[in-house]
Amino acid sequence: MILTDTHTHLYSDSFDEDRDSVIKKAIEQGVSRFFIPAIDSTYAQAMYELEASFPDNVHLMMGLHPTSVKDNYKQELSFVASELQRRSFVAIGEIGIDLYWDKSTLGIQQEAFQYQIQLAKKYKLPINIHCREAFDEVFEVLELERAMDLRGIFHCFSGTEQQALQAIDLQMKLGIGGVVTFKNGKIDQFLDKISMEHIVLETDSPYLAPVPYRGKRNESAYIVNVAEKVAEIYTVSIEEVAKTTTANSRAVFGI
Ligand SMILES: [Zn+2]
Repeated sequence: MILTDTHTHLYSDSFDEDRDSVIKKAIEQGVSRFFIPAIDSTYAQAMYELEASFPDNVHLMMGLHPTSVKDNYKQELSFVASELQRRSFVAIGEIGIDLYWDKSTLGIQQEAFQYQIQLAKKYKLPINIHCREAFDEVFEVLELERAMDLRGIFHCFSGTEQQALQAIDLQMKLGIGGVVTFKNGKIDQFLDKISMEHIVLETDSPYLAPVPYRGKRNESAYIVNVAEKVAEIYTVSIEEVAKTTTANSRAVFGI
């Protein structure tokens, strides 16, 4: 069984004490493919070190996270552009709009999001979308940039069935993580109506740990708990979930 964590911040300083053992523990449980979203230039060194330690398992994305779109965003975007020119990445992410933390930056968040989608098109890469309290705003930019070759993942999908269908129509897969195990998470109520070919699994570790670890530090190994819940929702085996969602992740990232 091969499970794929399509969104994990393993370079986070929350793992500074035990990063190697956390990763080895995940690999032992069959979680052997880690897709690593960027945040901003201050994390780049830690990401490259992580990749050097686990070159067969770690796949890096490049991008500017919406909550890091601040006064210096132009400088940060040119860092993204120059890194993309310098070396290869598997996706542009995480990018998008976050109106939970700061509504005042909406204008520059939209601009940064659209610009990075254009970079994704230029380099023929998928995108990894962060959307928090901003579905309408995110869909607006995606519709503007809609194209045959634009594809990606709606990371930590937390919307309604209607929004799920809209995302799928834009050639996006739904990133399903710990929230699906929460009592008030809501997506478990309609997920079985969405074909499993449209979903991928993720942890977003160190955040959003699934039940029974809710509130604790999340780890990639806990994706097993997410997969178990997804298997229960679709009434299939966990092996089937692993097989389908890993194949879906290959379709997105080409690796
Ligand atoms: Zn993230």
